[in-house]
Amino acid sequence: NEELLINSEKLYVAGQLAAGIAHEIRNPLTSLKGFLHLIGSGRKEASYYDIMNSELDRIEGIVSELLMLAKPQVYDLSYHDVRVMMRDTVTLLETQAILHNVYIEAEYGKEPMWVFGVENQIKQVFINIIKNAIEAMSDGGAIHVRLSREEDSVRVLISDEGPGIREEQLAKMGQPFYTTKEKGTGLGLMVSYKIVDNHDGQIRVSSRLGIGTSFEIRFPFRYPETPAVMNGN
Ligand code: ADP
Ligand code: MG
Repeated sequence: NEELLINSEKLYVAGQLAAGIAHEIRNPLTSLKGFLHLIGSGRKEASYYDIMNSELDRIEGIVSELLMLAKPQVYDLSYHDVRVMMRDTVTLLETQAILHNVYIEAEYGKEPMWVFGVENQIKQVFINIIKNAIEAMSDGGAIHVRLSREEDSVRVLISDEGPGIREEQLAKMGQPFYTTKEKGTGLGLMVSYKIVDNHDGQIRVSSRLGIGTSFEIRFPFRYPETPAVMNGN
């Protein structure tokens, strides 16, 4: 029976994810215990605290990214203009970009681009993808952000001038804990894909080696409904 199959597939995915999370969190925990043990036996070195701190950061990073997968509360759902959310995101990331010699060049468009959803989650998608773009450009460069309104959708294009992604890597992106970074969690894209899907949107990646990578995100355009009854008469 089809429904049963879908359910067992979901359980399988949940099991895979649980195994991944358990593994990723156990590593820093084991290391934390080891250093606590060393400190307890009288060996105190400043570098232990640095390592312990970064292990704790790692756990914190994993947990806060996973929290994004939690179901949004109903009252969080509202109409939002993508231009405003993207402007906020770019402002938030500008300092970090400059530190990496990266310039974010954005064209927000002239008309409002309404979507319906959870503001913080949609912003998180933009943050995750722009951060990846910044991190991809170790020698600096530009990120281009383009917003446009198409018939019944809002299109967001984020392109970088990074090294690009090989085809075999492209297939792994969005899988939990897939990362090529020393300090990566490998959760940013998985969480982003899930959020976009929850908002009835689509996300596509295209990449050319030596040229750069583009993420295209589409959300349904949803014009804010006006209340049916304003004043009784
Ligand atoms: P993390 O950033 O923690 O590694 P993500 O899920 O955000 O996890 O990204 C997974 C991987 O996808 C990255 O480690 C990187 O290899 C690849 N990736 C994502 N975005 C880009 C990009 N713009 N350019 C090149 N590689 C990218
Ligand atoms: Mg990332």
